[in-house]
Amino acid sequence: MPEKPATTPPVFRFAPSPNGYLHLGHALSALLNNDMAKAAAGRLLLRIEDIDITRCRPDYEAAIHDDLAWLGINYERPVRRQSEHTDAYRAALDRLKGMDLVYPAFMSRGEVKRFVSQQEAAGPQWPRDPDGAPLYPPQDRHLPQSEAEARIAAGDQHVWRLDMTKALAMVQKELSFVETGPAHAGTLTLDPAVWGDVMLWRWDAPSSYHLSVVVDDALQGVTHLVRGLDLFQATPVHRLLQTLLGLPAPIYHHHRLILGGDGRKLSKSQGDTALAALRASGLTPLDIRHRVGLV
Ligand code: GLU
Repeated sequence: MPEKPATTPPVFRFAPSPNGYLHLGHALSALLNNDMAKAAAGRLLLRIEDIDITRCRPDYEAAIHDDLAWLGINYERPVRRQSEHTDAYRAALDRLKGMDLVYPAFMSRGEVKRFVSQQEAAGPQWPRDPDGAPLYPPQDRHLPQSEAEARIAAGDQHVWRLDMTKALAMVQKELSFVETGPAHAGTLTLDPAVWGDVMLWRWDAPSSYHLSVVVDDALQGVTHLVRGLDLFQATPVHRLLQTLLGLPAPIYHHHRLILGGDGRKLSKSQGDTALAALRASGLTPLDIRHRVGLV
């Protein structure tokens, strides 16, 4: 009988959202995940992050599979699709509700903007998160429960937000994570409070990126997260949610971003760097490796 391996293999994942065609930046992420999983004799998963039903499309999802096959990347089946697992995210939200760490937030983006300009007209600049968005105002956090319940019962549109101050008080320790990416390698302690009361459940789509990503990484036993530096700043929020929900901490590796000719991060709307377009123009998978600086 073959001997059971003493340790379980590391688990990597590539987790694109099917809201556009994959571009060179995704190719770097997917190829790095592939290469690092191979080098570590690990497993590679693909996860389709399609909770944002307003922007995701089946043809983009099909293109992800085609592009990865063309690049020669093999991943395990079945592939987890977030839209099929809303229950798992709801259970996590319910747990945080039970811990009294989330609250319904009723202000629309426009209302937040108006509130912030009024504040700034009369005083100093309102705090912004690392993406430059104003932090959510504190009013709803202090709404009496009966009033919040009445508004929900009346059908008032709302999202669910984490009460960051309460959450950090509950954790009572500095949150750290192991980062192996070249830009910030080390054991890092970063403060999630810079994001304010992050949104965990949207009104127009189930869950939020932050909540579903930590739930899925834990459920899928992901041990190594290899993704772009654009998500580096979100990691302390993920570590906080993992700690609150009792989920394990993966090792993080944030890789450099591929920038366009204008020096900006590539976006899915820039068709000329789409892998499908590059393939159609005659480039080979090896050319793509060259383009993203992997050979
Ligand atoms: N779905 C995210 C994206 O396409 C990536 C999530 C992650 O790797 O944590 O940008």
